Amino acid sequence: MEITCPNCGANLTVRSDAVIRTCDYCGTAIQVSKMISKPGATKKEKQEFIIKDHYIVRCHYTPGQAKNLLVAWISKVPGTPSDFELDVNIHSLKLKFYPLWVGEYAADTEYTGLDNWPEFHSPAYDAPGWYEHVTYYKREESGQVVREYQIPLTALKLDKIPKYLKEYLVTTTGKEYFDIKHVKNFSGEIIDSALKYDEARNQMRQEVLGLQEKEIHKEVKTISTRTDKLEERAVFYIHFPVYELRYKYKGRDYQALIDGSNGRIIHVEIPITTGFRAKTITAGAAHVAIGAIILLLFYSTIPFFAIAASIGLIIIGIIFFAINFRKKAAEKQL
Ligand SMILES: [Zn+2]
Repeated sequence: MEITCPNCGANLTVRSDAVIRTCDYCGTAIQVSKMISKPGATKKEKQEFIIKDHYIVRCHYTPGQAKNLLVAWISKVPGTPSDFELDVNIHSLKLKFYPLWVGEYAADTEYTGLDNWPEFHSPAYDAPGWYEHVTYYKREESGQVVREYQIPLTALKLDKIPKYLKEYLVTTTGKEYFDIKHVKNFSGEIIDSALKYDEARNQMRQEVLGLQEKEIHKEVKTISTRTDKLEERAVFYIHFPVYELRYKYKGRDYQALIDGSNGRIIHVEIPITTGFRAKTITAGAAHVAIGAIILLLFYSTIPFFAIAASIGLIIIGIIFFAINFRKKAAEKQL
């Protein structure tokens, strides 16, 4: 299928199920699904096919820097083979700009609801201020919840997102107006939203209403009535950079994802030496075994000591096993 960019007039080939397409020539984000439903639109109408708040989070790492960062990071992981830096071969590196929606909302909800209130009966004789019975009754309450929200929404169907990107929190504070030249300078690939503009807005509004509901439930158990005022302050369509790397080490293939804007390791598979594996398994097994022996020997005479000591040792043993089975890593996010 072909469309004409409403901004620069370039002809673009699009997939038949495309809903949004960033123009390869001028970087305009075009609402394809809206455009094809309105053939013969006037010049003014065509402006409505464009998403104006289209932003980019710039990539701050060259492919070479991304590779160095990855090798240096993996080398520091405990258990990484000492010849890793010499033998690693990064054979594939792609920079993709993934899509994200971010909505900013102000919400003001007035509500009434029922909450449980305690009623105290029969003062205790021996303890002033204490009661022997407490019952609860439902009491109507009303209130107001005023909050501001910034909602990020992944713009792809879940099966189209690399697994480890789903949980990743993108930093969008440094966003700038979208710049196609930047993408081209890095030979990056643009991936466009699978959600329509209005679908994204609806989902984010629903999320805000859900968050307001959670706030109300902190005050009342059941909600009887609520009136929501929801102001949509902005909706941004943002592309952010992710390096997807594959590397070979001793004949095996591993992969990694790096945030191109801040160099954060989003996800990486790491090789562990067999020596390190053997040591951690031995240490883990030894701790569990000693824990079990202490429990058997001392349980009848000093049970508290036996239980506390053996639990401690078994936990340490399990930690050793966990270190051993860990094949993947990621930088911690706050
Ligand atoms: Zn264009």
